[in-house]
Amino acid sequence: MSTPQLPVIVIGAGPTGLAAAANLVERGIEPLVLETGNTAGSAVRGWSHVRLFSTWSELTDPAAEKLLAPTGWTKPEAGTYPSGGDWAEQYLQPLADILGDRVRYNATVTGVSRSGRDRIVDAERETQPFVVHFTTPTGEERVFARAVIDASGTWSTPSPAGASGLPALGEIAAAHRITYRVPDLKDPAVRARYAGKRTAVIGSGASAFTALAGLADVAKDEPGTHAVWILRRGISGSTFGGGSADQLPARGALGLAAKAAVDEGHADAVTGFRTEAVERDGTGRLILVGEDGRKLDPVDEVVVLTGLRPDLSFLSEIRLGLDERLQAPTELAPLIDPNQHSCGTVYPHGHRELSHPEPDVYLVGMKSYGRAPTFLAMTGYEQVRSVAAAIAGDTEAADRVELTLPETGVCGGAGLFDDPAAALSEGAGCCAAPAPALVQLGVGAPVTTVAAATEEAPAGGCCGS
Ligand SMILES: Cc1cc2nc3c(=O)[nH]c(=O)nc-3n(C[C@H](O)[C@H](O)[C@H](O)COP(=O)(O)OP(=O)(O)OC[C@H]3O[C@@H](n4cnc5c(N)ncnc54)[C@H](O)[C@@H]3O)c2cc1C
Repeated sequence: MSTPQLPVIVIGAGPTGLAAAANLVERGIEPLVLETGNTAGSAVRGWSHVRLFSTWSELTDPAAEKLLAPTGWTKPEAGTYPSGGDWAEQYLQPLADILGDRVRYNATVTGVSRSGRDRIVDAERETQPFVVHFTTPTGEERVFARAVIDASGTWSTPSPAGASGLPALGEIAAAHRITYRVPDLKDPAVRARYAGKRTAVIGSGASAFTALAGLADVAKDEPGTHAVWILRRGISGSTFGGGSADQLPARGALGLAAKAAVDEGHADAVTGFRTEAVERDGTGRLILVGEDGRKLDPVDEVVVLTGLRPDLSFLSEIRLGLDERLQAPTELAPLIDPNQHSCGTVYPHGHRELSHPEPDVYLVGMKSYGRAPTFLAMTGYEQVRSVAAAIAGDTEAADRVELTLPETGVCGGAGLFDDPAAALSEGAGCCAAPAPALVQLGVGAPVTTVAAATEEAPAGGCCGS
């Protein structure tokens, strides 16, 4: 079988997968996009009610725009902020429609390998095509490919409440009172679930900010609505994100809205809390139990927003080079490691940082970040431009950098590192001005003020070039 005649399989018709397909088409290479959902942007539609912090100008891929232009498609106004639903309806679906039969829906990839070679076999490995197995409503199928671009995201595999990375004891049994998504509080049925209730929000990223701000809004109209914000770390200068220093103002505003929820008394912050168990009181309400033995007052609902993780199960026969902590490609991981820096600024990167011991297989988009946060669609578009060029053999274009990424304004150490003491070094990293003083609040504990450290930026740090 001659591999150059075979298509490139793209897994996932999300923003990155569709952009990959557009870039391949531009280079005269046939893509076949396999998408588990029955529409384009199925994962994005899962959070259709959430307004993006990126404007339209940062959400469309240049190669995709070129494909769309002859259809009469007009780019939404550059400076406006779509919701996830808008992004899917006004850009992703039209793009998938123009790609036509190159996108197959209801096609769930279940395995990727080299044809006739499991992962331990070396002989003639690199001359064998890839074989991709997938399921459809009518059964199992397989397709051969010259290369595989996995753009399947991380949306389907949220992290649990348990601080160990495993579901906390009792977490699965309490599933009916737990969600792992930002609730759509504009939907009357969802709103009723949280109105007048006490809800724990676990997490410290943009999604947790969105949930806290939403619950605070509900609290203004519905007495008794209250949030308990569970953080593994302490509160510091950068807990609420970059605020006005964020180069994406809407992202900065999310943190400020969460801060307002706390300041206005709609949410209490519980710091240094690592959830170990979920118990129930006599009425069925949930009691979160910390690793240190603390038991919180009962809550009616729990919103777990502790991050997303990649599903690597269908790649087990492929020789991947992944960082052992982040599960991101080895070369990319140091650029995005939240243990070293929480800055969203990673220098634009492409096929070199995304390559694996197995040639011609790439993890791109949200999935390329593994467990690291702060992925931006723009990053994914640059990745797939470079990867498509590499697959086409155009090394010069593949190596070229064509993107400048915005900074979060919270560069520094300890983006995810959850030791409460880590707050000491936050905000003092490579991008941010030194923080003046950091205040750590402990619930039921006296307020402690600690001085900011003034660390130098870590080598290869977050500001990049
Ligand atoms: C609430 C929220 C808000 C965000 N806001 C922003 C923002 O403002 N700006 C920004 O730049 N980024 C934002 N992001 C990050 C955002 O998710 C990405 O920019 C973008 O969605 C990533 O696109 P992707 O194609 O890599 O992954 P996804 O959008 O997750 O797409 C992956 C696709 O793969 C499909 N799939 C999964 N598994 C399989 C399988 N086994 N077989 C076949 N198909 C499969 C899924 O159904 C999905 O369609 C946000 C994320 C969230 C969760």
